[in-house]
Amino acid sequence: MSLHDLLAAQIAANGPIRLSDFMADCLLHPEFGYYTTQEPFGASGDFVTAPEVSQMFGELIGLSLAQAWIDQGSPSPFALVEFGPGRGTLMSDILRATKGVSGFHQAAQIILLEASPNLRAIQGETLRVYTPAWIDAVDQLPAIPIFAVANEFFDALPIRQFVRDGSGWRERQVGLDNDTLVFGLGPDSPQPALAHRLEDTKDGDLVEECSAASPIINTLGLRIKHHGGVALIIDYGDWRSLGDTLQAIRDHEHVSPLDQAGQCDITAHVDFETIANAVPCQYSRVTPQGVFLERLGITQRAQALAQNMTEDALHSHIAAHRRLTHPDEMGNLFKVIGLYPEGGSPPAGLEK
Ligand code: SAH
Repeated sequence: MSLHDLLAAQIAANGPIRLSDFMADCLLHPEFGYYTTQEPFGASGDFVTAPEVSQMFGELIGLSLAQAWIDQGSPSPFALVEFGPGRGTLMSDILRATKGVSGFHQAAQIILLEASPNLRAIQGETLRVYTPAWIDAVDQLPAIPIFAVANEFFDALPIRQFVRDGSGWRERQVGLDNDTLVFGLGPDSPQPALAHRLEDTKDGDLVEECSAASPIINTLGLRIKHHGGVALIIDYGDWRSLGDTLQAIRDHEHVSPLDQAGQCDITAHVDFETIANAVPCQYSRVTPQGVFLERLGITQRAQALAQNMTEDALHSHIAAHRRLTHPDEMGNLFKVIGLYPEGGSPPAGLEK
């Protein structure tokens, strides 16, 4: 039995399924899901995320969070939170970089939101000395100040896709042709949630909707509004997306999202307009990752680290700096938005 066989049987019996249901099963099916069964990150895995590119990423995020904590009067206790921590590399770099911040570690309760038991075990190993706690859902966050980061978490939330047909929409579905999974379109139906997209689309255009993102942002933002803290949301995407951004990656190559269900990473661009509209506290300007990291001093940090490097290590260090910041690499595709309380300031690296 494979996820493909399971889905094919389900579709044969009950008809085509939503893309969001397909994506949710591919990533987090308890037995066959990609995050549930594989260790996808790093050079030996399927793709490389920013914290896996260089320790500088997590160090600078750590300093931005610690600065915000100091600016808000060093509250104790507070929750140091990561959404979707992967291998735990980002949190580990945050904690190493903030070791010298007086009182920060003592006041921090480290909380990880992670759905995959497999990845929880790896995170537990990476962060062994810090005794983190795990939660299943954002509403389990304690009612204390929250200093949070999410890197490439929202891009893994299931999306739906709709193709415009007159003033209605036809939903893109996953169906079956013989034994092969194929995309098709459902019947024309009104979509009140897409009313604003009638302004900027024409017949045949495809738009995406991620209904899971807003409630998460809303709950997180309410904690920050009522108890203080900040959140840094980092992901690839833009203010509003148009067209099909679904992508599947295996072994560092693009593959078809319908092939190899559960064997490849499936993500979509994050719509920062949806995120911003769901924020119940203050939010910063959406800022390119390269700009954000430069403002936090990545070049100075890169130069300091380079002092002790030669040859291959130096080459890959220079390439990592470029990869994180250059507009042709991750610098422009990835964006950052910060959440902060009324009357407060955006986290360092971001502007109102
Ligand atoms: N932040 C890490 C990993 C990004 S991959 C990095 O930058 O390297 C996405 C992460 O989010 C994985 O840890 C995955 O298991 C987790 N994840 C995806 N969907 C989730 C959900 N609905 N609830 C909780 N965790 C989820």
